[in-house]
Parts: sequence; structure tokens; C-alpha cells
Amino acid sequence: MPLTLWRDISPLGQPLRRPGSKSPHILIVGGGVTGLISSWVLLDRGYRVTIVSGAWASDEQRLTSQIAGALWEFPPAVCGQHTDKISLAHSKHWSMTSYHIWDGIASIPSLSEASGVRMMPSDFFFPETVESDKAQLSKMTEIMASGVRGFYRGIDIADERGVDPSYGAVDAYELLAPVIDTDKAMGWLMELVESKGATLVTETIKDDLLEIEDSLRERFEADVIVNCTGLESQVLAGDETVYPIRGGLIRVINDGVAFPKVKAALTITADAAHSANEIIFLVPRNDNILLIGGITEPHEWDLDLTLDTPIIQRMRERCEKFLPGLENARLDAEYPFAQGLRPFRGQNVRVERELRRTHSRIVHSYGHGGAGWSLSFGCAQDVATLVDEALEDVPARPMSETVFERKAAGFQRLKGGR
Ligand SMILES: Cc1cc2nc3c(=O)[nH]c(=O)nc-3n(C[C@H](O)[C@H](O)[C@H](O)COP(=O)(O)OP(=O)(O)OC[C@H]3O[C@@H](n4cnc5c(N)ncnc54)[C@H](O)[C@@H]3O)c2cc1C
Repeated sequence: MPLTLWRDISPLGQPLRRPGSKSPHILIVGGGVTGLISSWVLLDRGYRVTIVSGAWASDEQRLTSQIAGALWEFPPAVCGQHTDKISLAHSKHWSMTSYHIWDGIASIPSLSEASGVRMMPSDFFFPETVESDKAQLSKMTEIMASGVRGFYRGIDIADERGVDPSYGAVDAYELLAPVIDTDKAMGWLMELVESKGATLVTETIKDDLLEIEDSLRERFEADVIVNCTGLESQVLAGDETVYPIRGGLIRVINDGVAFPKVKAALTITADAAHSANEIIFLVPRNDNILLIGGITEPHEWDLDLTLDTPIIQRMRERCEKFLPGLENARLDAEYPFAQGLRPFRGQNVRVERELRRTHSRIVHSYGHGGAGWSLSFGCAQDVATLVDEALEDVPARPMSETVFERKAAGFQRLKGGR
């Protein structure tokens, strides 16, 4: 059963189930969106939680989780360069679980205001008809059947949004999607987990968790360790397949003065574009800021992009051609440009127990790539299941095996079972 708001987790400042002094104690390593939402789910299950993190969300030095455009997206229908079958089978379930919870949060005005989570039309444009690309057709068909709200298809969306007809978009569809103001949301999540009882410790762990598992568990009196360190899992999970895809976003004032206020997310996604040089990513972050993106640069580790870097200039020109008026946009003077490293891992997001040692009590959740917010609650639910299994000493299984269970469960539901 998918994780459900109010039944399994609550956005209020007390744990849904209060822990006792003997309740298991879980040590989360990493204070990004993955660590905070995993903590939230575990706290509401009645666990005691400590989060250890080298850094926390702040306006001075932003985490990758803050850099994110944080537009919810449905995963591709078929495997691509950065995804394989295992990842996709899980990702659809993870993203829909997250969709419904973000939607629930956005539906309560006071919560939406406090968390910076809004539901917004999200428009996808295509350089050819959806039917002419099998992968896009499957994705659209799955989206229509997925339970997302507000689906509509028609190229008249382009006219409505002021997209330049000469840019070459010939097809489009729209859905209502969660859009998250990450600075606000990260602050809200930190406050929420603290008020539910989490202890926050600032410390950088330097070694592969497997090598220090016993001493770390002893030092924190932890029953299970959950690794949510994103890119740093290269070291902490001893995983050489972890790599970055660098991204950058220009931030402009979206107050309707210099250009008509953009009130929907407008995108040509990487899987729909003919090349990475054609991605369009325009996302209203909040009432005042519009994000202009995007770029994808695999294996680029340095955060040395500027507004003058040619790839960023090209990105801006492309978006200005797509949406006339944007050339008049004024930069956000305080924070004109954001850049970060999307934490990818081979072709797979990893939500899995440590497999290198029998009876290890480490659970991993990392490698969320460009979808950490989109997959957040779904992954956290699986983290909680794996924590339960570790506590019961159930032997660890690779993620590939649990795909079959997920498919079988889906099949049961289709037949009317639960
Ligand atoms: C330009 C850009 C656009 C994006 N757009 C979207 C989008 O539209 N939608 C979406 O869903 N996602 C998007 N993402 C992806 C999203 O940002 C990531 O998937 C997500 O932030 C991953 O979160 P995380 O918590 O796993 O990692 P992080 O945010 O990197 O957090 C890791 C945490 O672990 C801590 N840590 C690391 N190493 C150690 C250590 N050794 N010891 C202790 N603590 C440690 C860090 O301090 C940090 O607190 C985008 C990313 C970028 C860069």
C-alpha cells in the first residue's frame, strides 16, 4: 500500500506514534531532502531518530536539495541513458506516492504557505507529435492512467502560455504537478523533524560506513544506520558508480513587469529533446522568482559556472527564443544563478540494504539524480520497510529481487486484491 498522508505520516509537529525509551533508534546520515523525509517517515512510525550531517540547508551554502528546480516529474516509460529496468519499475511507484503526498500538503493553504509546496500546471512541449516517438507515447499513456490531476493534451497550450510558434513545438500536454520552493521546504522539513523529536548533529563522516558500522552504531547507540549522503555515497557506500550531472539555473524576477508573469512550468525535457542542447526548463519557484534552465553535464564536478559561461548563455538564449519577453527579464540581484550536481548512480537509484556483509544494519538511499524531490516519499517508505527488515534480521536482498514483488503486488491490485 502506498504511504498515505494522515494515515502513515502527518505534517503536524508531533509524531503520529510516540516512541518509548526502548523504541529502536535510527541514525540517518545526511540532511538533504532524502535524509529529512526518511527521518519524517521513521519518526511517524514511532522510531527515535538522530540525523548526522556535514551540512544543513542554509542561504549561505546551499545543499543540492536546495539548488533543485524541484518540479515533480513522472519517470520515463522506457529505459534510457541514465535509467535501467530496476530503477524504472521502482521509480513509477515512488513518484506517484510522492505526488499524492505533495498534493495533500499543497491542498491545505496554511501548510502550502509554510512549506513552499504548490500544485501548478506543468506543460510539456514536443518537437514532434507524441505518437511519433514510442517512448513518449508510452510515457503519456502511463501518465494519463497514473492518477495525476488536470491532464490535458493540445498544442493550443503553447498559444495560451505565449510560446513562440516558430520555436518548433508541435505537440504539448499539461498536468497539475507539485512545484516546491526548496529553500522554504528544507527549512520547514528541518523544523518538522525536530519538533517530531529528531536530534540533529553536525558532523562529517569520513569513511565507508561498512568499515565503521559497529563503532558508529555504538557511539550513537543506533540500531540501524541509513545512508542519505547523495554524491558522497561514492565514499560512504564504497560505490564507484556514483557520478554527478552538473546543472545550472538562472533566477529572474517574475512579477509581471518586464514580461508577462509565468504561471505554469514550461518544459522540453531531456528525454523529449533531440539533444541536451534543447532542454527548456522554466519553473516559477514562488510568487516572485522564475527559474530558467536547464543543462545536463555528466561527470563535471566543478561548481565554476557563471552567467557568462557559454553553455549558460546558450541556455538563456534558447529559453528567450522559446518564450518571447524573457529577454527583458531582470536577474534576482541577491541570488542570480544557482548551480549544483545531480547525484546519479550507474543507471539506478539505490534504496537497498548493504549487501557486502551479511547481517549489516545499513540501509542506503542515494543516487536520486534529477528526481530527489519527485521520488522522496516513495523512497522513504521503502527505507522504512528495509529498516524494519534489518531490525528483524531478515536477510538483505538486492533491489532487483524486490522489483518482482512490486510487480506482483500491482498485478494483485489490478485483479481486485490488495
Ligand atoms: C540543477 C538541478 C536541478 C534539479 N531539478 C530537480 C527537479 O526539478 N526535481 C527533482 O525532484 N529533483 C531535482 N534535482 C535533483 C535533486 O536536487 C536531488 O536528487 C536531491 O537533492 C538529492 O537529495 P539528497 O538528500 O539525496 O542529497 P543532497 O541534497 O546532496 O544531501 C546530502 C546530505 O548529506 C550530507 N552529507 C554528505 N556527505 C556527508 C558525510 N560524509 N557525512 C555527513 N553528512 C554528509 C550533506 O551535507 C547533505 O546534507 C535537481 C538538481 C539540480 C542540481
